[in-house]
Amino acid sequence: MATVGSVTRQIAALELSNKKPTNSARPPLHSKQPSQTNVARLLTKYASPNATATSSSTKQKAATTSSNATQPSAIPTKTPAKTQGQTPSPPPPNAAEVMQSMDIGNYDGGLEKENEKRGEKVYGEAAKDLALDSSSARKSPTREWTLHDFDIGRPLGKGKFGRVYMVRTKCEPKYILALKTLYKSEIVAGKVEKQIRREIEIQQNLRHPNVLRLYGYFHDEKRIFLMLEFAGQGELYRQLSKYGCFSEKRSSRYIDQMADALSYLHSKHVIHRDIKPENLLLGLNGELKIADFGWSVHAPGNRRMTLCGTLDYLPPEMVERKEHSEKVDYWALGVLTYEFLVGNPPFEDRRSVNNTYRRIMAVDLKFPSGMSAEVKDLVAKLLQHEPQDRLPLTQVLQHPWIVKYRPKGCPRGSQVY
Ligand code: AMP
Repeated sequence: MATVGSVTRQIAALELSNKKPTNSARPPLHSKQPSQTNVARLLTKYASPNATATSSSTKQKAATTSSNATQPSAIPTKTPAKTQGQTPSPPPPNAAEVMQSMDIGNYDGGLEKENEKRGEKVYGEAAKDLALDSSSARKSPTREWTLHDFDIGRPLGKGKFGRVYMVRTKCEPKYILALKTLYKSEIVAGKVEKQIRREIEIQQNLRHPNVLRLYGYFHDEKRIFLMLEFAGQGELYRQLSKYGCFSEKRSSRYIDQMADALSYLHSKHVIHRDIKPENLLLGLNGELKIADFGWSVHAPGNRRMTLCGTLDYLPPEMVERKEHSEKVDYWALGVLTYEFLVGNPPFEDRRSVNNTYRRIMAVDLKFPSGMSAEVKDLVAKLLQHEPQDRLPLTQVLQHPWIVKYRPKGCPRGSQVY
């Protein structure tokens, strides 16, 4: 059994530090704890899955209860005995025990099968562009990783450029991750080398509980592998499709987390530009994780004029291909709030793309009955035609509809769900 000291060192080697997120406005998550507890909390905070992660019925249950859950830990911690005479609870499991009890499910051999059939080697400039390895990153280099360093578990999904698997590091503390493969030749064929590089560069420097963490990356001849934080409850979009729409309470909790995460991203000069339910994942405790930085842009002080993102979420300035700023994400937050509550985005028009554009330009916003006055106020303040008129994120975080549902003792949005 590994000692707590060695577990801690290996977490550090994985570059999983328990430093406070750089969002300086965020209060400290925890007061100082014994190191063993710190390690367990650290693993929880950064997406440690538990054995229930592979059971769909339990997952379902977790999903339905997530909005009420106030326990930030997925690790089964025991409540201390309150009165004398009761049997004292055993100490919480240490990190190594927790890791070893996790079930990553069965590997289907898909990586090897796929690698035989799919993709080709790339050469020249493209090969150099895509020789991505976090061990040689300028900022916070990690240890060197290869595919042999992981036990591979169940498939989590298929993306455009390859599969995603649940994996566990072979080295202690046997950390659970989502390993995403990207085929280099397909990236080159799609002419998105720069975009992928940018996505990786942006994501590897971000540290926020509601932003999917990228722990490291490496490559072989044909593929790039991304070591991503495991989002135990999968896609938010799936939940939205399943339930049709969310309650005001659940929506408010998500929007609180979104506003906090976006405000962190903007403080780092990162504009996401493609906020939509499909790009959001859920952690084991149902906490929201912004993923997919494919369209985000690192724009210290400059403004962009490219048309990108999803039609229904485009703000007027992007429809008109005007310059745009981080306020495009404010607009998208308004669209997202509406879609969570209503089940479809506010300017959707299935007849034609042009009709949708027209409705966006006219801010043709109609609220169905049943929405509270508070949420209508928030959505209307975010969906303003002029970017400078949109409600700033600091005010979103103080809006009555957000504050109303925020659990007591949680001054800003993200730690409690
Ligand atoms: P992507 O290539 O990012 O579109 O991922 C394909 C699918 O894999 C997604 O739709 C998710 O269902 C799943 N997936 C991707 N990343 C993760 C993650 N970090 N944790 C859990 N599931 C994931």
